[in-house]
Amino acid sequence: MASSDVVILGGGFAGLSCAAALAAGGRRVVLLEKKPHLGGRAYSFTDQETGDVVDNGQHLFMGCYGQTRAFLSEIGTSERLNLAPGLRLDFADADGRRDALSCPAWLGAPWHLAAGVLRLRGLSLRDKAALVRLDASMRSLRRLNAMPAELDRMTARQWLDGLGQTRRLQSRLLDPVALGALNEDPAVAAATGLAQVLRHAFYRDAEGSRLGLAAVGLSDLYAGSARSFIESRGGEIRLSCKVRGVSRGRVVCEGGEVIEAGTIVSTLPPWSLRCLELPPELEGAWRTLEAAPIVSISLWLDRPVMTEPLLGLLGAEIQWIFNKTRLLSSGGSGQCLALVISGARRWLASSPRSLLELARADLGRCLPAFKKATIRRWLVIKEPFATLSPVPGSDAKRPAAVSAVSGFLFAGDWTQTGLPATIESAVLSGRRAARLILEGKQHA
Ligand SMILES: Cc1cc2nc3c(=O)[nH]c(=O)nc-3n(C[C@H](O)[C@H](O)[C@H](O)COP(=O)(O)OP(=O)(O)OC[C@H]3O[C@@H](n4cnc5c(N)ncnc54)[C@H](O)[C@@H]3O)c2cc1C
Repeated sequence: MASSDVVILGGGFAGLSCAAALAAGGRRVVLLEKKPHLGGRAYSFTDQETGDVVDNGQHLFMGCYGQTRAFLSEIGTSERLNLAPGLRLDFADADGRRDALSCPAWLGAPWHLAAGVLRLRGLSLRDKAALVRLDASMRSLRRLNAMPAELDRMTARQWLDGLGQTRRLQSRLLDPVALGALNEDPAVAAATGLAQVLRHAFYRDAEGSRLGLAAVGLSDLYAGSARSFIESRGGEIRLSCKVRGVSRGRVVCEGGEVIEAGTIVSTLPPWSLRCLELPPELEGAWRTLEAAPIVSISLWLDRPVMTEPLLGLLGAEIQWIFNKTRLLSSGGSGQCLALVISGARRWLASSPRSLLELARADLGRCLPAFKKATIRRWLVIKEPFATLSPVPGSDAKRPAAVSAVSGFLFAGDWTQTGLPATIESAVLSGRRAARLILEGKQHA
């Protein structure tokens, strides 16, 4: 029977950041990943036809991703993440009209946001004035350690309506932010996550709202380098190793192998973890947490149709377009775009061809230059289990790191981190689990 100091289940952002921190702290770790590659829900691959690196879905980072930035620094890849100097979001609507949220960082938070909103063209004075009430609410929330439980009992829409935010302000600014960060429509998502995003990204400092985009494919951003970092410090990573069950101090793999572990850290998402044989003490409301999907469409065009690094579409099904040619500094006469539909439940059953037609229609209306372009290649990726669905009541079900089973820790983006289920939440959970172990606090 094999044995290890710490066994980590799952090789995504949470598992790799946990393993890296423990390996750096001199602990012997074994990481078990069921897939033949690392990266979990954030990975990249090479498209066979074009030779281009494609992400499983475009990921946006933010300046407030402090734990993620520390992790990338630790494994030596922080220069592969480009953080824009300030916050600028360009939008195009279905009539091809442009607008931009441009927030001067030198004003400091949250004044930079106020200045950006004041300059938005698509909002009336009444819409802009309504933001004062949201601002007052955020100022009182930012003094609290945790979000009030009542925000988990109402939707983001109910919260914003209650604060007098006009529908136009919501649809042109707050909804795109909420949908992008929470991966659910604001009418479906609880208010907690939106309040957390606003607090961390816009109300702490202007640094928090800088947008970050990888200059390489996601796997090159962290997975490969994290692996080298862990292995060069004596850690072991086993791919294609599916865990079947966990009992006190033991992990059982699909093939029947049993690994004895001083401590076990699970970074499996709830929909995977609940399929394992687990000690009854680990049962909890977390088992009922569900996932929300994302659909991504990559287009290779014969010519450039946009210059911005990213563009939000208003009044369209496609919500964001990322200019991959610019982000990855690829050459050539054409342009590669990555399109994103978050909260994409209604599109999951659609055929790839009908999603292409949807993209063609939206881009044709919002981006006039697109009408002249020819699509040379396209690719649709559906991620049905992209993120935790943050519906009302879900925040209360997210488990803390230390569990009722001594030496078993919960980690992963979906666990209780005080953040929506994002990369930053995953890395925070992974590094927090490592810290608890290094400090000997992993027991109930
Ligand atoms: C298309 C898409 C777009 C996204 N966009 C953003 C974004 O813009 N910004 C952002 O911050 N976040 C974004 N996210 C969310 C982000 O990817 C996740 O929050 C993060 O990757 C979760 O990391 P994790 O380590 O917690 O979980 P995971 O990445 O899910 O890692 C868990 C690992 O466990 C493995 N596993 C499961 N079962 C077993 C088993 N039985 N045995 C062994 N291994 C097992 C899985 O294969 C997986 O590798 C996006 C997600 C998707 C899918």
